[in-house]
Amino acid sequence: MNTHPTLPEFDYLRPRTLAEASEFLSTHPGDARPYMGGTDVLVRMRDGILTPRFLVDVKGLDGTNDVHFDPRTGLTLGAAVNMNRVIASPAVRTHYALLTEACRSVASYPLRTRATVVGNICNASPAGDTIGACLALDGVLHIHRVHGPRQVWR
Ligand SMILES: Cc1cc2nc3c(=O)[nH]c(=O)nc-3n(C[C@H](O)[C@H](O)[C@H](O)COP(=O)(O)OP(=O)(O)OC[C@H]3O[C@@H](n4cnc5c(N)ncnc54)[C@H](O)[C@@H]3O)c2cc1C
Repeated sequence: MNTHPTLPEFDYLRPRTLAEASEFLSTHPGDARPYMGGTDVLVRMRDGILTPRFLVDVKGLDGTNDVHFDPRTGLTLGAAVNMNRVIASPAVRTHYALLTEACRSVASYPLRTRATVVGNICNASPAGDTIGACLALDGVLHIHRVHGPRQVWR
């Protein structure tokens, strides 16, 4: 048994826009995966569970690094915002304390500088600590696709 598994070979891609990322992902189904913090996807690749040929870095595209609160429309959390930034946000702490608490319960400070709430949701583990908070707070997921946006809520 290999007690020190390593990452398989893959190509790293950094598209410039969400449209470019969506186009590439849609034309390489099964071969390409989006990634943000990598705290799930890289571990799964190292363990041989996932074997994508391409990792598509979708951090920071088209406003996905933004945290924005509007009293009328609520909180908009960019997909690439890491959990420490969520915890540090006064708006989140004041209006969405459950989300602050959920993020704080995840692993450790260093891991939370990489891990994102959206990555936690997309990984879809039943143990995902922020998923329940997003559901309880009536979160809506805005998905970017080649054929226009889609929204998902419970
Ligand atoms: C040591 C350790 C401790 C951990 N402890 C906890 C814990 O206490 N609680 C907990 O809930 N989790 C924990 N995790 C799991 C992990 O850190 C979280 O699930 C994290 O939130 C994943 O976010 P990420 O940005 O790193 O996702 P990534 O690894 O980048 O991606 C996760 C999944 O989502 C997909 N994805 C990523 N971005 C997108 C996108 N924009 N659109 C569509 N799909 C996308 C990827 O393809 C992948 O399948 C731990 C992990 C490690 C390694």
